Amino acid sequence: MVRTTVGWQAGPAATLRRTPLKRRELRPDDLAVRVDYCGVCHSDLHALDVHDGAGDAPLVPGHEFTGVVTEVGFEVAGFAVGDPVAVGNIVDSCGECAMCRAGQENFCHAFPTLTYGGADRHDGSTTLGGFSRECVVRDRFAYPLPAGLDPAAAAPLLCAGITVWEPLRALGVGPETRVAVAGLGGLGHLAVKMAVALGADTWVISRSGDKAEDARRLGAHGLLVSADRDRMAAARDSFDVVIDTISAPHDLAPYLRLVAMDGTLSHLGHLGSVTVEMMDLLVGRKKLSSAGSGGRPATAAMLDFCAAHGVGADIEILPSSRVNEALDRLRRNDVRYRFVLDLSDLD
Ligand code: NAP
Ligand code: ZN
Repeated sequence: MVRTTVGWQAGPAATLRRTPLKRRELRPDDLAVRVDYCGVCHSDLHALDVHDGAGDAPLVPGHEFTGVVTEVGFEVAGFAVGDPVAVGNIVDSCGECAMCRAGQENFCHAFPTLTYGGADRHDGSTTLGGFSRECVVRDRFAYPLPAGLDPAAAAPLLCAGITVWEPLRALGVGPETRVAVAGLGGLGHLAVKMAVALGADTWVISRSGDKAEDARRLGAHGLLVSADRDRMAAARDSFDVVIDTISAPHDLAPYLRLVAMDGTLSHLGHLGSVTVEMMDLLVGRKKLSSAGSGGRPATAAMLDFCAAHGVGADIEILPSSRVNEALDRLRRNDVRYRFVLDLSDLD
């Protein structure tokens, strides 16, 4: 049994087309969610770039969305029709491995089921993301949206936000910490807001000075231009934590140089292979780390923190019919700082 909805599916040449989609009938622990807002993540671009519009499994991007519960499976206890919810980039996990038991479903040993481009654990079908009017998700991977969070500005918290939140917390960022955020985009601007809200002395590293005013408005103390060799040299060993959200392949050495003794470079952006000179870690006993997405407890805690501290994304809302324009502009770095699609035009 299937139900039908409509969404934006990849066609040729990395463009999305309005397409009728099938969603499964609810299992006992499923929710049906009317998707109201879905953020556009740079990972959606990466996914589209490697997708062959005709030959591959269907691709419907979108893995950070908010909406309203429209139906619940008969075993669902924690949600009711009408509840505002948020869903991120994981919709299932094995639930049994050490990572899942530790609340780190994002690192599930059997690999978490991704919100799009994953394989459903029951029927093997390809998961389809939030660029659609309805999603059906397992209740464990939907989060109540705390009151006080704007549903549109909250949508990007579910990928961009949690991706930077987990390492900020794991690295103990707080009032005594000096943090630099490299790349002021979707992830980067939320990393700045969260680090500032955690009390850290926060800086931005960007390719130009164009975003300096924004950096200060977001709460950062200042902005370093990565091409400014003198300023970068002067900032050597200055930051306990460097959060790298740069979306393109790049040399890590200049960013490792900024890390203070025993500090950490958390490389979250472009997830290809990198070359590291061990001497860049040896001198100063520095650490190189990464992270991705978040477990259920951390995701819920992040949403509560954001509600308490008024943290949401800086967004530009577009009707979903303009999704290809949003993707083009994101590719050109013409976004401050997250596009959010309004899916109501699919009704
Ligand atoms: P975004 O909004 O496009 O921001 C990326 C930023 O990187 C840009 O704003 C820009 O900052 C900087 N940048 C872009 N091209 C660059 C280049 N050639 N050299 C140096 N800097 C460059 O992207 P996003 O949505 O924040 O995603 C950032 C990256 O994180 C993407 O690669 C995405 O796939 C990845 N990601 C990873 C995870 C994870 O689980 N680890 C989750 C989500 C996303 P400036 O203008 O300030 O220089
Ligand atoms: Zn994402």
